[in-house]
Amino acid sequence: MALIVHKYGGTSMGSTERIRNVAKRVAKWHRAGHQMVVVPSAMSGETNRLLGLAKELAPSSHTTAYARELDMIAATGEQVSVGLLAIALQAEGLEAISYTGWQVPVRTDSSYTKARIESIDDQRVRADLDAGKVVIITGFQGIDGLGHITTLGRGGSDTSAVAIAAAMKAAECLIYTDVDGVYTTDPRIVPEARRLHTISFEEMLEMASLGSKVLQIRSVEFAGKYRVPLRVLSSFTPWDIPLDEEAKSGTLITFEEDENMEQAVVSGIAFNRDEAKITVMGVPDKPGIAYQILGAVADANIDVDVILQNVSHDGKTDFSFTVHRNDYAKTIDLLKEKVVPHLGANEVVGDAKICKVSIVGIGMRSHAGVASRMFRVLSEEGINIQMITTSEIKTSVVIDEKYMELAVRALHKAFDLDQDAA
Ligand code: ADP
Ligand code: ASP
Ligand code: MG
Repeated sequence: MALIVHKYGGTSMGSTERIRNVAKRVAKWHRAGHQMVVVPSAMSGETNRLLGLAKELAPSSHTTAYARELDMIAATGEQVSVGLLAIALQAEGLEAISYTGWQVPVRTDSSYTKARIESIDDQRVRADLDAGKVVIITGFQGIDGLGHITTLGRGGSDTSAVAIAAAMKAAECLIYTDVDGVYTTDPRIVPEARRLHTISFEEMLEMASLGSKVLQIRSVEFAGKYRVPLRVLSSFTPWDIPLDEEAKSGTLITFEEDENMEQAVVSGIAFNRDEAKITVMGVPDKPGIAYQILGAVADANIDVDVILQNVSHDGKTDFSFTVHRNDYAKTIDLLKEKVVPHLGANEVVGDAKICKVSIVGIGMRSHAGVASRMFRVLSEEGINIQMITTSEIKTSVVIDEKYMELAVRALHKAFDLDQDAA
């Protein structure tokens, strides 16, 4: 008998019929003798609907008071899901009980809308499991030190599930979703994408951080830190497929690198449209400039991603960087008001219609020339590269958003990731 955590995403919980299907699947695992903890998301579209209501009353605001209420509102989506799933399991003849994040409790810091889990008290859950119950815990939410409800950021139910699996030392955490595993790239953009049977933890971490939303980045970080066995699989298979078959399906995230295994040079392609580019033009090229610009941005709690400083001409240079699109207007205002006047720069310009496309692969460590091959593929498609950033196992480029799909498809083919290439 093992302790297993299942996570079901919004689409998997999207209707009462689908919830019944989830209940039947969980019941199958329970009847096979496992102790089951289930972490569902809100029903699909519900979190957007709830946040939309708030924005109808008042457009986004950066105040903590506003963010607190967003969490108060958004957290209700998951509360409905857990209750419905408990009822569906009871209808299957099982004993089931649901808890919200604050009932467990799942303790977080106080960064509303992007809180981090600090600790999970599993006493209550363990007692229920020992009494033979299936325990259902809300994804996405927790409670801070002062008793305020918090949420973990969009896609955060993945992180709830992995954190609960880590805290309870579960044998495995299974992430059930609307695709049957992790693919070489988003199969909705590239139909030729191939499912990976395994992906290394490091590659998964890069893919998630570079935009593959199949797993929230923090869930992968948790899995790495606590070595939680993690698998991504489909919730759309018939619920009554044999358990052994289901347990081996999907994509396993692996932690041990097999030295002898021939690694693909590039394992996957990630992309992200959530960024915007900002350029401060005509900056005097002298020490302290990057600090003056990016220091002010950091003080405003805005994360910067790709950074580029050009060669100077006549003592002046252009300085570009990317931020999340939600922070675009705020960053431009901040630079215009607080930085440019003191810096002696000419002007601030921006472009919100950019995207970042990345190739990821452990094999890049031992193969030279991978990045240049990427640049050649893009040039053959006539795509202009605006910025480049690299690390040991990834190369990312910032390009015009309108070329995103073209770039992803061309790279997918060029690096032999297409289905028929395998
Ligand atoms: P859930 O609601 O189950 O959490 P998400 O929508 O958050 O589901 O994540 C699943 C989606 O992630 C898929 O439908 C797919 O479009 C997208 N996706 C992006 N990149 C990948 C990838 N490399 N492999 C599989 N799915 C991906
Ligand atoms: N319901 C939340 C969201 O839509 C959390 C999740 O689905 O993981 O972002
Ligand atoms: Mg998700």
